[in-house]
Amino acid sequence: MYLYNSATHKKEEFVPRDPSLVKMYTCGPTVYHYAHIGNLRSYIMEDVLEKFLRWEGYPVKRVMNITDVGHLASDADTGEDKMLKGARREHKTVMEIAKFYTDAFFADCADLNIKTPDVVEPATRCIDEYIAIITRLLEKGYAYQAGGNVYFDTSRLERYYIFNDHDEEDLAVGVRESVEEDGNKRNKADFVLWFTKSKFEDQALKWDSPWGVGYPGWHIECSGISIKHLGEYLDIHCGGIDNAFPHHTNEIAQSEAYLGHPWCRYWMHVHHLNTSDGKMSKSKGEFLTVSLLKEKGYDPLAYRFFCLQSHYRKALVFSWENLDNAAGAYRKLIDRIAALRPADGPVDQGAVEEAKARFDKAVGNDLNTSMGITALYDALKVKTNDATKLAILDSFDQVLSLSLLPKAAAVRAEQEKVKAVQAQGGYTVTGEGDPDIDALVRARGEAKKAKNFAEADRIREELKQQGIEITDVPGGAVWKRI
Ligand SMILES: [Zn+2]
Repeated sequence: MYLYNSATHKKEEFVPRDPSLVKMYTCGPTVYHYAHIGNLRSYIMEDVLEKFLRWEGYPVKRVMNITDVGHLASDADTGEDKMLKGARREHKTVMEIAKFYTDAFFADCADLNIKTPDVVEPATRCIDEYIAIITRLLEKGYAYQAGGNVYFDTSRLERYYIFNDHDEEDLAVGVRESVEEDGNKRNKADFVLWFTKSKFEDQALKWDSPWGVGYPGWHIECSGISIKHLGEYLDIHCGGIDNAFPHHTNEIAQSEAYLGHPWCRYWMHVHHLNTSDGKMSKSKGEFLTVSLLKEKGYDPLAYRFFCLQSHYRKALVFSWENLDNAAGAYRKLIDRIAALRPADGPVDQGAVEEAKARFDKAVGNDLNTSMGITALYDALKVKTNDATKLAILDSFDQVLSLSLLPKAAAVRAEQEKVKAVQAQGGYTVTGEGDPDIDALVRARGEAKKAKNFAEADRIREELKQQGIEITDVPGGAVWKRI
């Protein structure tokens, strides 16, 4: 496959160092709050990348960290530890917060069909690894102690800015905007490897180290965890575009200084999800989470479909209208697949292979998932039997993970149930899977049957207030949210 490599600013053919195992690392969440759907866009696209590599036949080992210590409010190592902020907000301990939001993150991932990486490692479990790396960086002269903290000395590197053209002045602006300037740094770009001097007396988690009791900086954890589980050479490192600087830039600096050779070959960065007023964040505007989408009646996979419709290297604009369009298209796609008849003949393997080659070319071109979605519609038009079409869709869905076949099967089963009940003269309610609404719609149907039209109208009005529209059909009613 071809992948845009942020480190070289070019689209390159992906060639793993060792084809018998692709080594992939993903920066995980800082578990002090729910993930917003903008964060989850990155995890969806990284999931597609992993599944595509597996689909192409590569064995993959993927590692992800969970940041449960050391990520300060500003990425430039100033401000309050985000975990502590979360704990204070909710009157819980840092570890309780970490557990709660780690579980919430994986629940969101499950709703979005995002596979859990092979290794998930909380940052607090690898303190010995960070201490070993920092010790060697000090020995090699890449790090220094100042004011009780240990810093990485960026002036020792021939090249520090890997991903962009940041210069001292850009960075100076960043420093000015952050909470406070750190007078211990020799160079503005230097960053903390180990803190002992936290300005917050009650920093909850601390460990002993050769430099005093303290805690690791945010950047060192990804180098430590990656090298621990994936060794000295990494094939692909992924993350959101806002991680490119300073986080990934610092990861490269410390990893290569420590190892003494190049570390990671390909860097993949997923761009932002924006709202009409700019980049989505936890503190600005409506806090958009998977739970909120579900509360509003959206299938989380409609959001996955929405993300896959656009390229990961372009900013994507979220609006409820855009999501509605994607949700409508997703439902129609499922309905079209539900209309296919399974086992209507033998699967034409030649046609499957041909379609797979087209999909491979489309998605293998820098993870062009919108072309992958187009390939789904093309598969529905292939001149072949339905069993073959279903086999093609099933294969593509191993990468896109839209649950196409199970959802289509559920729609088909529901349709058959309706038919069966109708055949017996019964009353069926079909809707969007909400038992409370189903019960009200059914009560209205029964009131009508009993010629209690006042009650039937009252229930219809009550549902209308909730944004539900009912359509009477032979033998029952269908409802939907409008
Ligand atoms: Zn990271």
